[in-house]
Amino acid sequence: MSILTRYIQTDRQQKLYDLAGGLADKAKERVKQAEDTAQLPAETVADFKREKYFSLTLPKELGGEALSLYELLLIQERLAVGDGATALSVGWHLGIVQELAQEDLWEPEIFDWFAKEVAEKQVLVNRIASEKATGSPTRGGVPETTAVRQGDEYVITGAKTFSTMAAVLDYYIVSTYIEDKDTVGSFLIKSDLPGISIDKTWDTLSMRGTGSDDVIFDQVRVPEKMLVEVNQQANPRKAKGWLLHIPAVYLGIAMAARNEAIDFAKSFKPNSLKTSIAEVPHIQQKIGEMDLKLMQARSFMYSVATEWDNRSKEDRQALSTDLAAVKTVATNLANEVVDLAMRIAGGRGLSKSYRFEQFYRDVRAGLHNPPMDDMVIQILAKKAISE
Ligand SMILES: Cc1cc2nc3c(=O)[nH]c(=O)nc-3n(C[C@H](O)[C@H](O)[C@H](O)COP(=O)(O)OP(=O)(O)OC[C@H]3O[C@@H](n4cnc5c(N)ncnc54)[C@H](O)[C@@H]3O)c2cc1C
Repeated sequence: MSILTRYIQTDRQQKLYDLAGGLADKAKERVKQAEDTAQLPAETVADFKREKYFSLTLPKELGGEALSLYELLLIQERLAVGDGATALSVGWHLGIVQELAQEDLWEPEIFDWFAKEVAEKQVLVNRIASEKATGSPTRGGVPETTAVRQGDEYVITGAKTFSTMAAVLDYYIVSTYIEDKDTVGSFLIKSDLPGISIDKTWDTLSMRGTGSDDVIFDQVRVPEKMLVEVNQQANPRKAKGWLLHIPAVYLGIAMAARNEAIDFAKSFKPNSLKTSIAEVPHIQQKIGEMDLKLMQARSFMYSVATEWDNRSKEDRQALSTDLAAVKTVATNLANEVVDLAMRIAGGRGLSKSYRFEQFYRDVRAGLHNPPMDDMVIQILAKKAISE
């Protein structure tokens, strides 16, 4: 059993894993294009749509495969071995759809209609909640994007930052301050409505292929029924299993770096040695350390996911601390694994002709996806003190 396939336990999981593997290989071929344009390639989105991938987390009766959290993580890791940016992008969509299906966040009528859009048209959705002034929504800042009622419509005005897949999304779930209700809520907004434009600000070190540009809403008129959540996301401590799609991505990147480092160590024979560097003690030390870190992070992540899947909806809330801890442990260990892989490759690892430098850049982004490390540590400390 290889480290990659360690957590595949059933035939169904193997099939899902193979499906993700095929798409990951195709996405990997387009990494240069994605890096150059700082966009998720439309061809990659089309590949996923063809495979009906975007409905995987819908319940079976609504046309999906009812993926468990565990299964979502397996395919997220596999996608990220091919390309981290593609995995993070697709993971937002799959995770959001999974949460909507499991948590009854929306009125049944609107969710059923949206589920049909996903199942039949393979539409792509993401939550766009970050803003320049409010920063990460997890900090609890009130959005500066406003929703003002006019008759039976709302008029949305504002700008969102870090909007992953902005240019290829079919729908945005947009957090706003709702003037007449004096509260925060989210609207489901079709991406081609008049007044919506994209400001191509995404020129980053990491995860360039996510195309996480700014989306501008200039007096965008939406029907009242598209106000899908009022105060629903207000509780930052609410357990959200689906957010584990994030650590799975960064562990996938770390596994890809680990695999390439081992291949490099086995094939590189400097003329100062009679063997490859894989036989050298300090290289073996680093290889062993990479696997130790991956074993710790993955075993923690998959055990919490298994618990999540096995618990009732009510009992899942007790896992909120574990979920947060998994994210911090996994993303930090993933950074350490990639660092070790870079050290094994030596100076060559800095070259654009190897994948190491991209892993190094991409894995760094995990630190800035939610929940942030300082919040996780604070949650753990408060829990420990209160107990
Ligand atoms: C690759 C990638 C993809 C993303 N995709 C999406 C997406 O699809 N949708 C979306 O909505 N967002 C997305 N985000 C945005 C993400 O969720 C964060 O909003 C963003 O990374 C900014 O986080 P931050 O902690 O740096 O920001 P800020 O909140 O602006 O914080 C900046 C600094 O100030 C500190 N700080 C700020 N407020 C506080 C506070 N109250 N208490 C203590 N310290 C504070 C932070 O610790 C940090 O050091 C994405 C981010 C990345 C990197």
